[in-house]
Amino acid sequence: MNTTLLKTLTGVGILTVFLAIGLHVRIGNGATHAGRNAGQTRQPSQASTNNDTVTNSNSEFVPAYLELHTSGELAKRAHELWSMLESCNLCPRNCGVNRLAGERGYCRAPGSDLVIASVQPHFGEERPLVGRGGSGTIFFSHCNLRCVFCQNYQISILGRGSRISVEQLANAMLELQQFGSHNINVVTPTHFTPHIVAAIDIAAGRGLRLPIVWNTSGWEHVEVLQLLDGIVDIYLPDMKFAFGEDSQTYADSPSYPEQTKRAVLEMHRQVGVAHPGAAGIIKRGLMIRHLVMPDNAGGSKQVLDWIATNLPADTYINIMEQYSPHHQAFNYPRIARRTTPVEYQSVVNYAHELGLSNLDSRTARWLNN
Ligand code: SF4
Repeated sequence: MNTTLLKTLTGVGILTVFLAIGLHVRIGNGATHAGRNAGQTRQPSQASTNNDTVTNSNSEFVPAYLELHTSGELAKRAHELWSMLESCNLCPRNCGVNRLAGERGYCRAPGSDLVIASVQPHFGEERPLVGRGGSGTIFFSHCNLRCVFCQNYQISILGRGSRISVEQLANAMLELQQFGSHNINVVTPTHFTPHIVAAIDIAAGRGLRLPIVWNTSGWEHVEVLQLLDGIVDIYLPDMKFAFGEDSQTYADSPSYPEQTKRAVLEMHRQVGVAHPGAAGIIKRGLMIRHLVMPDNAGGSKQVLDWIATNLPADTYINIMEQYSPHHQAFNYPRIARRTTPVEYQSVVNYAHELGLSNLDSRTARWLNN
């Protein structure tokens, strides 16, 4: 999860505009929520076949999902994913609750209702996603992890946001395209996978042509990712932890390292290595994020070892330095401070020693200073 974005969203009094649906949500301390549309989530069967084309600024690019939309396969995938809500196993938490009957699992998503915190062109993501038009970010409420250091716990853990319909989500995607965003960047999407796929199907019929960025914690079921094959163009997973003991302590998920490794391999199988195209924009491929934590709490060098061993040397990696303690982190002495420049540079140097050649450009610039 992008920490720059999180800083933006968690700032006191930040006004986030819902571009497509005309709602305004104030996020942060003392926040208020207006314009809630509870219970409006639509099922995939209601997906529109309206072919009214919205002007798009990306006409030379053919997104992966367009062929599946045309063949009807995208609607089938949405149905299959939706049916998984009946005994929810969308993520490795495997709660088995009936979200179609309104039950909540570990992520606390309200049944089959869809909750989002913001829609905005975002300029703090990786440069190849931002370009000049920004990354079209849709930030989903709730989360299947419980990171004790989460900068965005009001949204991820407390679930702040507004309930909208799948149709409204599709409209939001189209509005981001009209604004000139380079992609549709779905942030923390896992527990709303069926809604997102259904919305892409609707939006594709109305002219959506932007690549989909699956901006995830990385803790995904391979079987669910396989249903996204041919839909997602850019996978943007975190690789947060190398050791299960740490992921248990700091994210309540002992299976995180092994599950995420399997997920990342599947993502790479689907979309391959990410390389910038015209104007430095990436439109397809795997982009990995790793946040360097204090006292090697994320197992940074071990994460890089795994990448160097299991993926091509030119795999895109953003080694992030911006960890700072939030939420409950001050209850955990090991991570109750910022990462030091020495700790960060040690990790980046190690990536170079391993021969990893496609490090985030901001990292490279930092090294040259
Ligand atoms: S998506 Fe939510 S309800 Fe479903 S398995 Fe994961 S945590 Fe449980």
